[in-house]
Amino acid sequence: MRLKNKVVIITGAGSGIGKETALLFEKEGAKVVVADMNEKTGEETVAEIKKNGEGFFVQLDVSDREQSKQMVKTTLEKYGRIDVLINNAGIVQDAFLSKMTEEQWDKVIDINLTGVFNCTQAVVEAMMNQGNGVIINASSIVGLNGNVGQVNYAATKAGLIGMTKTLAKELGKKGIRVNAVAPGFITTPMTSNVPEKILEMMKEKTPLRRLGEPKDIANAYLYLASDEANFVNGAVLCVDGGLII
Ligand code: NAP
Repeated sequence: MRLKNKVVIITGAGSGIGKETALLFEKEGAKVVVADMNEKTGEETVAEIKKNGEGFFVQLDVSDREQSKQMVKTTLEKYGRIDVLINNAGIVQDAFLSKMTEEQWDKVIDINLTGVFNCTQAVVEAMMNQGNGVIINASSIVGLNGNVGQVNYAATKAGLIGMTKTLAKELGKKGIRVNAVAPGFITTPMTSNVPEKILEMMKEKTPLRRLGEPKDIANAYLYLASDEANFVNGAVLCVDGGLII
């Protein structure tokens, strides 16, 4: 087991990549805190975890600072430490620049960027006291290359790369590693409304000629969370089948 007895918080673990990660991490021996805004899907993830492993659900809107602090407090009360935080929760609200509303801009910034700041700041004291910890941020290839209709989303995912590298420098000396994963196109509820024609085009453009599965990203998170990545800090791991090379 690669994460035996590690305490791992995964935001957005009720769905898609986060859910797949929660179930994989349980199999690898982790105690998993499923932190999601969606109580129904979050509790469903926990029910699956509890068939063989350990974990619990915390209802959390990552854009709410107080809720983020409370989520960390609850985790520490229950498990006494936090080994890994995966800032995985994220949303899209797509529109061309000329049509994008202030609400769409603000909402995506609040959840995808400020949400990561909130959860990271909330866990970091416990990790510093322990003298170790791992933080993993869900960026995107859109943060590296941009994407039409996603100026808000791309800004947040690029922003996360800046945050990841800065925090890798700030926190490395405290024994805390900070890395990002930049997924390509992954089949999850987030991408379920994309028309078939676009999906085919994405496959054609991808050297591996397929779309990504949630487990492709869960495995990348697993590597970065595990001790095998002990010397990996400030990295942005692209998991996109070669789409942007
Ligand atoms: P997903 O299936 O939509 O899952 C996201 C989860 O986050 C959902 O359970 C959602 O709840 C929850 N959530 C939404 N807002 C939240 C908030 N304010 N606080 C806490 N939880 C919240 O998405 P996914 O495709 O797995 O994406 C996971 C991460 O990977 C995201 O950061 C995304 O940007 C990134 N990513 C995805 C792709 C892709 O192709 N799928 C590509 C690159 C990067 P609800 O069910 O209520 O919405």
